[in-house]
Amino acid sequence: MDIDKYIENLEIKKEGFFYKCPFCDYTNADLKVIKKHIKTKHLDEIKKEVEKMNKPKQKQNKQRRMPQRKQVKKEDDYKDYLLLFAHKKKCKIHLDNGMVVEGLVKAKDKYNIMVLDAKVDDKDVGRMIIQKGHIVAVIPLEE
Ligand SMILES: [Zn+2]
Repeated sequence: MDIDKYIENLEIKKEGFFYKCPFCDYTNADLKVIKKHIKTKHLDEIKKEVEKMNKPKQKQNKQRRMPQRKQVKKEDDYKDYLLLFAHKKKCKIHLDNGMVVEGLVKAKDKYNIMVLDAKVDDKDVGRMIIQKGHIVAVIPLEE
């Protein structure tokens, strides 16, 4: 699509004896004069429209493909080792502040685990949420 073609294909309405410019209130009985008017007075607007018609489709395709691939890769790379061997098992959990928690591990989300029937230094604390970042070691007490 180029500017001349765009103007050629523009729908120019006739009001009574006069053709009306689609961009402003200018009218003229001669269609050629209207088209000349459009090309000289509204060139910037037409350029923008023509660019819009020519460019965005390519851009959109590229943008759509790239992020999707990246996202899929990330999901595949992520492995939750707590889910693999500690989920729903009784474990001893060593934390980076020296605390030792014993209980039934439930891998909760990417960042936290939940421990049921939790014991800290042999005291019952019920249930506990532990940030995975604070875990130094998880030792399963049963297989
Ligand atoms: Zn005009």
